[in-house]
Amino acid sequence: VTFQEFNFNEHLLEGVLSMGYTKPTPIQEMAIPVIAGGEDLIACAQTGTGKTGAFLLPVLNHIAQNHTHQTTVLILTPTRELAQQIDQQVEGLAYFTGISSLAVFGGGDGIVYEQQRRGIQNNVNIIIATPGRLIAHLTSGVLKLNHIQHLILDEADRMLDMGFQDDIMRIISYLPKKRQTLLFSATMPGRIRTLAKTVLNNPQQINI
Ligand code: AMP
Repeated sequence: VTFQEFNFNEHLLEGVLSMGYTKPTPIQEMAIPVIAGGEDLIACAQTGTGKTGAFLLPVLNHIAQNHTHQTTVLILTPTRELAQQIDQQVEGLAYFTGISSLAVFGGGDGIVYEQQRRGIQNNVNIIIATPGRLIAHLTSGVLKLNHIQHLILDEADRMLDMGFQDDIMRIISYLPKKRQTLLFSATMPGRIRTLAKTVLNNPQQINI
């Protein structure tokens, strides 16, 4: 399988090649068609497998096809470092598409908070956030999530370990019911399966 076979937007394909991705990894080969088909997905995959590209590429392609200027993608992650890493992958892959993204994480001073607030007001296509700080922007009224079409829970097991379960459920209560939800986790304990039952709709399952 090659990236050309996924029929991605030409500008997205340019970004993929510029990142040095020559061939899809196994998780990408399996997950991209499922996600592009609009289905929900629960994927068991470790870091280093290319899981980030697996969920970013079909979602970026969907935005590129629809030329939307609203925030249609929300990615929740456990840590600031992971949010920034995902944001960097978006910037690389989406470089030639004009798609915009913003990382929103806790900590930092008032200037960081203010920069995030202004970024949110600029209607970025993709927000990559840690749950606690996202809720701060939601309750301040600056962030609206009513246009979200894709919710991605990345490293869901770590988010639960860090005590984000209630925050995640609260964030989901702001999202449209009609959306695609993707859950990625390195491990699949009972708590993850329970979370998946509540937030996913008839998901496909992939194990790497
Ligand atoms: P991840 O598992 O998402 O943390 O990705 C691990 C690393 O692999 C990241 O640095 C990616 O940029 C890189 N990567 C992802 N997909 C591919 C690919 N198809 N070919 C080469 N490198 C990739």
